Amino acid sequence: MPAIAKLSDEDVKFLETVFPGALITRPEELNVYASDASLQSGSPLCCVLPERVEQVQALFAWADEKRIPIYVRGHGTNLVGDCVAFKPGIVVSTARMDHILEINKGDFVAVVEPGVNTAQFQAACEAQGLYYPPDPASVKGSTVGGNVVTCAGGMRAVKYGVTRDFVLGCEVVLPGGDLVKFGGRAHKNVVGLDLARLMVGSEGTLGFISKLYLKLIPKPEASATVMAGFGSYQEALGAVGGVFDKGILPCTMEYIGERIVKLMNEEGNVPWPADKVRSVLLIQVDGSRETLPIEMRRLEESLPTAVWTTRGLGKEEEEPLWEIRRRINPVVFALAPNKHGDDAVVPRGSLVKAVDEFARISREYNVIMVTYGHVGDGNIHVNVLYNAEDPDEKKRADEAIHAVSRAAVAMGGSESGEHGIGVVKDVLLQISKRERDLMRQVKACFDPHGIMNPGKGY
Ligand SMILES: Cc1cc2nc3c(=O)[nH]c(=O)nc-3n(C[C@H](O)[C@H](O)[C@H](O)COP(=O)(O)OP(=O)(O)OC[C@H]3O[C@@H](n4cnc5c(N)ncnc54)[C@H](O)[C@@H]3O)c2cc1C
Repeated sequence: MPAIAKLSDEDVKFLETVFPGALITRPEELNVYASDASLQSGSPLCCVLPERVEQVQALFAWADEKRIPIYVRGHGTNLVGDCVAFKPGIVVSTARMDHILEINKGDFVAVVEPGVNTAQFQAACEAQGLYYPPDPASVKGSTVGGNVVTCAGGMRAVKYGVTRDFVLGCEVVLPGGDLVKFGGRAHKNVVGLDLARLMVGSEGTLGFISKLYLKLIPKPEASATVMAGFGSYQEALGAVGGVFDKGILPCTMEYIGERIVKLMNEEGNVPWPADKVRSVLLIQVDGSRETLPIEMRRLEESLPTAVWTTRGLGKEEEEPLWEIRRRINPVVFALAPNKHGDDAVVPRGSLVKAVDEFARISREYNVIMVTYGHVGDGNIHVNVLYNAEDPDEKKRADEAIHAVSRAAVAMGGSESGEHGIGVVKDVLLQISKRERDLMRQVKACFDPHGIMNPGKGY
C-alpha cells in the first residue's frame, strides 16, 4: 500500500464535512492520539471522533477507496503498540461513541457502544443486580470495545473466563463502508462460523466495532478473600493445585513473587510477618451468603504449607488486602526506571518449573526480574527492570524478555495471555507460518486493501 504523507485540502474538506467539529489536525492536539501505553509513537495524519455509525461508514468507504490506513482507538491503554500509526493514517477514536444503550434484566444482555468505559459499565450492571465479570487491571481507564478487540483478561478470569466469553454479538463497519451484524442477543447460537468472536482479539485489523451485545450473569451476593504467606515461591506456587483439588474454583488467584515481597517488606506496612513470609497468594471466592463460609473454611484447609494467613469477609475487609496487590506496579520501580512487562502463560501444572526457568533466564542475561500475576490460570506476569539509558542493559533486557516468551511457548503455554501481539511480539514464535497465512487470508476477506491497523498482530 503506497504511503500517503499528507492530507490534501480536498481530503480535509471531506473529513470536515463528515466530522463537523470532530476532526483533529493540529500537531499539538494530535500528539495525544499518536501513542499508547506501549509508549511507542507514530505519525497520524489526523484523528476523527465519530458519534454515529454513519460517519464511520462514510469514512471507511472513502479511506478504502484512497487506501488510507485506519487506526481505531479506544482509550489507548494497550501495551503492544496496537493504536500507533506507524504508517501515516487516520486515527478513529471511539471516545464519543460511549453510550450504554440497554441493560436488559430479562435477557441478561447489555447493548453498548464501543467507547463506554469498562468500570462505568460494570457499575451500571451491578446497580441492577447484574454482573459483567471481565476486569482487566485497567478497567477504570479502558473501554469495553478495546477490551473486546484485545480479548482482555483480568483477575476474575480463573472462574468467569475472559472478555471473549461475554461477547454474544457485534455490529461492524468493514473497510468499504458496509455495516454487518454478527451474532446477536441469543446466549446460544451455532449458525455458521462465529464471526462475532473472530472480532474478539483481532487487534483492530478487521473492522470497526460500532455496537456490542454482551452477556450478563447474576451478581454474586458475597465475596471473601484469603491472603496466605509462604516461606518460598516453590511453596506458594505448589499450593495452587491443592486449592483446585479441594473442589474450589476461586474467582481470583493472584501470586506475589519473592523479589516483590522483599521490596514490600523493606517498604514496611505489610500485614504478614516479614521475617517469615517470602511469597504470597491472594485468593478470592464469591457466591451466596450461605455457602461462602463453608467454601472459606475449605479454602483455608487447602493451604497447609502457608506460614501465615489472614482473611477479609466482604468488600470492606477485603479492600486492604487487594490494595497490597495494587502496590506491585509502583513498588517494582524501586529496582530500575524502565520496565518490560510480559504476560506469558504456562500450563497450570508447570508454575514452579516456569518460575525456576525465568529465574535462570534472569541470571543468564544478568537482568533484574520479578514475577507475579494471575496464577489461577497460569498467566504469570514477568517484569524485567532496567535502565534504558544504558544501551547494554537495555539490550540484555530486550533479549531476556524474548527468552521468557520462548520458554513459556516451549512449556506448552502462550507468549501472551492478554496483552496481544501488536508490534512487540513475534507471532511465529507460537504459531506456524501456515496458521499465520490462514489468518492473513481471513483478514484479506474483511480488509482486501489492508487499511486496518497495518503491520499489527499477525
Ligand atoms: C496499568 C495497565 C493495566 C493493564 N491491565 C491489564 C489486564 O489486567 N488485563 C488485560 O488484558 N490488559 C491489561 N492492560 C492492557 C489494556 O488495558 C487492554 O488491552 C485494554 O483492553 C485496552 O483497552 P482500550 O480501550 O485502552 O483499547 P485501545 O488500547 O485503545 O485499543 C486496543 C486495540 O483495540 C482496537 N479497538 C479499540 N476499539 C475498537 C473498536 N471499536 N473497533 C475495532 N477495534 C477497536 C484498537 O485498534 C487496538 O488494536 C493493562 C494496561 C495498563 C496500562
